[in-house]
Amino acid sequence: MTDKNGIDIEKAAEFLDLPPSRFSGLLEKRTIIHNWDEYQNLFRFDSHVSGIEEGSVLIVKDDSFELIRGFPKIKRAMTLVPSIERNFSEAGSVIVEEKMNGYNVRVTEYRGELIALTRSGHVCPYSTERARHLLNHDFFKEHPELVIYGEMVGPDNPYVPKDIYGLESLDFFVFDIRYKADGKPLPVMKRRELAGNYGFTQVKLFGEFDIQQASAEITEIIRELGKTEHEGVVIKDPEMVLQPIKYTCSEGNNADLRHAFRFYNDSGRDYMFPRVVREGFQSFEWNESEEELKQRCLRLGESILRPMIQSIREVENNKRISEDVRIRVKDRDTIDRFRSYLERLGVDVVFSDPERIGDEYLVRINKVNQSTTDKTKSILEGQLWS
Ligand code: ATP
Ligand code: MG
Repeated sequence: MTDKNGIDIEKAAEFLDLPPSRFSGLLEKRTIIHNWDEYQNLFRFDSHVSGIEEGSVLIVKDDSFELIRGFPKIKRAMTLVPSIERNFSEAGSVIVEEKMNGYNVRVTEYRGELIALTRSGHVCPYSTERARHLLNHDFFKEHPELVIYGEMVGPDNPYVPKDIYGLESLDFFVFDIRYKADGKPLPVMKRRELAGNYGFTQVKLFGEFDIQQASAEITEIIRELGKTEHEGVVIKDPEMVLQPIKYTCSEGNNADLRHAFRFYNDSGRDYMFPRVVREGFQSFEWNESEEELKQRCLRLGESILRPMIQSIREVENNKRISEDVRIRVKDRDTIDRFRSYLERLGVDVVFSDPERIGDEYLVRINKVNQSTTDKTKSILEGQLWS
């Protein structure tokens, strides 16, 4: 039985271990969504479905299927000492890697070419082009059973642009490799060795620490990373059996808040609130002096208020609140494909004319934050907050 999306419902359902009626119901409700562009054989999971993570992608091949699993959520430690004890005591030691601040991308091969999937399971044309240039394709030929997970980081970044890493454009930092079949990750050192063999760039490794020493070591690492506004660390079971945990620096946290409050009506409250709470627990755990506490309060307050006030002033001066980002591509076609991709996702963007740099094109993109602009304008015109 073939559905209007061109998928054999019975076979796909069997592959996913779902009853066929459930599978067609999920298609109907658009919980499983058929991809729209040239990647016609891809289906994206818009939310979690019986053990299959949100963002997972079903690939329909000529006579088989493949499931590229979404990257699992990483829980956060709010206080380091008890979280490490509680979550990793079975492991005896933990491996600490840098948590880099960019966007999450999965790379796999599709019809002989690499494709890059975003967290939500879209094929991003920009990330796909970059992945094709950044990654050694041999890996995918020699290991069709594996998926690469990594962070796209750097200034030429349409989603999370950052200058703090000293990168010229955009690089892909591998942080996980998993089996397609069951989503199981490789142990950390095995993954690092394999990625190293193919010359992949990887997230920084800080080391392996005994559970007893880990908190003190991580606290030191976090203080150092904070000085350069880096984001933080991910703490992992060397075997990757226990779930990893993330822990972040106050400075990176404040950078997030500055961004969120500049676009205060576009940013989610679930994004902002936990970032304020983290500051309270970190200050408590670090047993800060009155002076340190005062600094933290000042930093937090400034991160919230200054960007917001700047936005209000801009609207008062008849400007639209927006954000400038950049992309750099080799193929001019990618520019149009990326523009229509963003428009399709409902992002309000203005692309500049491409500027030639070496054998690449740099394009500036202005992303308009309409909701914050409108809200601010209406408040300035006397609308009440309801
Ligand atoms: P999550 O659902 O994973 O908590 P989030 O979008 O809120 O997602 P973050 O707070 O940025 O995410 O933390 C998790 C993300 O950190 C991962 O999805 C991954 O993209 C990124 N990351 C960066 N460096 C690493 C690393 N070394 N190991 C694992 N993930 C990393
Ligand atoms: Mg992130």
